[in-house]
Amino acid sequence: MSKSVQQSGFALQEVTVRYGYVSALQNASLKVAPGEAVALVGPSGAGKTTLLRLLNSAVVPSEGQVEVAGTRLGDLSAEALRELRSRIGFVHQDLRLVPNLRVSQNVMSGRLGRLSLWQSARMFLRPAAAELEEVHCLLERVGIADQMYQRVDRLSGGQAQRVALARALYQSPRILLADEPVASVDPARAAALLELLTGICAEEGLTLVVSLHSPELARRYFSRLVGLRAGRIAFDKSTAEVNDQQLADLYDLEADREL
Ligand code: ADP
Ligand code: MG
Repeated sequence: MSKSVQQSGFALQEVTVRYGYVSALQNASLKVAPGEAVALVGPSGAGKTTLLRLLNSAVVPSEGQVEVAGTRLGDLSAEALRELRSRIGFVHQDLRLVPNLRVSQNVMSGRLGRLSLWQSARMFLRPAAAELEEVHCLLERVGIADQMYQRVDRLSGGQAQRVALARALYQSPRILLADEPVASVDPARAAALLELLTGICAEEGLTLVVSLHSPELARRYFSRLVGLRAGRIAFDKSTAEVNDQQLADLYDLEADREL
């Protein structure tokens, strides 16, 4: 895995994203330094997923600029954008694993963005010993090495999440993005997964952005919180400076009706 922390920060400059008449994000500015870990908090529909998707260029801003690793995404050639995206790990909310493939194959698919069709086929059909060793190491790290040859559809929800994390790490990412990675597991498993995720990113110096529905978990595992509400950044503070009222306001249904 890359230990490089250089050039892995990002910045949004007055970014607006519109889907038809809906503004998913409005005039959002945000700067995250290389190696920093940030949690995005806010209710459903606040714009968390949209913000994450901007960073891996799955969404293009209607207005404003997105800069990742020192370059504006809009200025990159298709080839340069593909290279950059291959270094951004994304753990999707619905995981997007391939159910009838083994854990090892799902993890290896993390590198497909950087391989030719021929190389991908070779890796799937006849993985090299070094590749299998690397996959095994990653699975050990996320605590499921004993499931390496299991089919993904036989795993528990918590195990599947660890596979999705290992797949993202197999990309040797510089930036790791995770969209509500603990939305579907019980509180004990959620805490364990966040501890693992933040621990690995801190050790490797990866920039980490995680969206979380639960402000309690965000507070516990992150030192910087970005609160989103109705497409706007409501606050961006160190966790120690965020008070209960600010969090309550984010989720306040009464205020929603006045918008
Ligand atoms: P969150 O992840 O915080 O729940 P999203 O970023 O998914 O928020 O959504 C923000 C807003 O944008 C919501 O009002 C949502 O309905 C809208 N939205 C998101 N994606 C699309 C889309 N592909 N087409 C239309 N509207 C969308
Ligand atoms: Mg979302």
